[in-house]
Amino acid sequence: MTFIRHKVNSRVVQDLKKRSTIGIIFYIVLSIIVTCADGFYSRHLFASLVFFFSNLGICVFRLVHLVIARKMGEPYEIVNRGIFYVSVVITALVWGCMLAYVEILNNEHVTQLMMNVCICGLSAGGVVAFIPDRRLAILFNLAMLMPATTALLVNRLNPPLTIMICLFSVYLVLIAIRGNKEYWNALENEYLLEVKSEEMTRLSNTDALTGLSNRRHFNEALEREWKRSGRNQSLLSLIILDIDYFKKINDTYGHQVGDEYLKKIAETLVSVFKRDSDIVARYGGEEFAVLLVDSDVEQTIHLAEAAIHSIAAMTLDHLGEKVSTTISAGVNCRIPDHTAVPDSIILGADKALYAAKERGRNQVVFFG
Ligand code: GH3
Ligand code: MG
Ligand code: MG
Repeated sequence: MTFIRHKVNSRVVQDLKKRSTIGIIFYIVLSIIVTCADGFYSRHLFASLVFFFSNLGICVFRLVHLVIARKMGEPYEIVNRGIFYVSVVITALVWGCMLAYVEILNNEHVTQLMMNVCICGLSAGGVVAFIPDRRLAILFNLAMLMPATTALLVNRLNPPLTIMICLFSVYLVLIAIRGNKEYWNALENEYLLEVKSEEMTRLSNTDALTGLSNRRHFNEALEREWKRSGRNQSLLSLIILDIDYFKKINDTYGHQVGDEYLKKIAETLVSVFKRDSDIVARYGGEEFAVLLVDSDVEQTIHLAEAAIHSIAAMTLDHLGEKVSTTISAGVNCRIPDHTAVPDSIILGADKALYAAKERGRNQVVFFG
């Protein structure tokens, strides 16, 4: 759970920013409407100016910070997250303090009503926007509603309104907690699903015994690389390897030892074909295929020889006995042209492998 939280943390911050950016412009527009309608600004010019310019300042700051934070990237994420959180709470405080100021005025019923409507909308909207972070959602709500509640209580004004604001605040806190839980559950499910589907893809491409690519994955890779090499007119090389007299190992030591031997062969092949682009696959029972891109004929033959020598020198310890055999390899290298199909390179390597077996095994045969 903690691991998942850590993994998706930056995604959550992105979500928070996206969700809250839409609201920023509303703060400026609403502050103009509230102070201008009913001529509030003419009676309370200083308060109106402070309110409007605080809104303008913090909103412009938030927009500029969004752009800068995106450019600064991950190394400054913690600092930028802190700045984002503080600026959000200041926005709420600007509105909370204005509401407190307006509520204690006499004969400002229209502005009071408008402020109440704005605060209801903004605090509810804010809670929904900040649901990914429960603490921020609650803090935002408290910063918006508590200054007015305190001012009303201190001045012993309008008890029903005070109670309403408190109830509304509690209600929003509950929604924030509930919504936050649902948001995280959905996010965790989405993430787990992603992990599972990656795991499924990996499993469906992997041979269970050796951990190498399976034939399906090999065929896909061959199809892809065949097309790519055709486009680039570059050489594509295939080595097919078949263990010599493997049946004898099974017959002498049993299938389980045979399996262990296959695993060891796979490890040896991986240690020879080390490039990231090399595709080493279990092609069939005791047959392996290696697909090499951007490797010339000499390199390919050299690698195939290195592989058969390593395997000839390889032994598996079984009850004090040393189990060993050799392997034969067929090599085919092609620059694909559009008239040929990928199977032709397999056919060529297969023929070379057959020749290697014919010629006495434990050797590499190359067909161009
Ligand atoms: P050659 O040198 O001509 O290739 O002889 P070989 O004995 O290797 O060839 P053959 O085709 O006669 O036998 C292949 C053997 O590989 C038979 C089969 O039981 C064994 N085999 C295939 N897949 C597996 C596997 O997954 N595990 C084990 N233990 N044996 C396997
Ligand atoms: Mg075979
Ligand atoms: Mg064999």
